[in-house]
Amino acid sequence: MRVKCVLCDKIDKLDDQLPLAKRLRNRPIHTYMCDTCYERIKDRTET
Ligand SMILES: [Zn+2]
Repeated sequence: MRVKCVLCDKIDKLDDQLPLAKRLRNRPIHTYMCDTCYERIKDRTET
């Protein structure tokens, strides 16, 4: 499935078999964050 990062609008492709993909299918697509943004948020919340 294709997902769009909510922060940078980057389109990512997720393997349908991934737990994350299954979770996203049951939720609005805008809950997805790409790895880059995820790391950025994580860094920000840790400091
Ligand atoms: Zn992003």
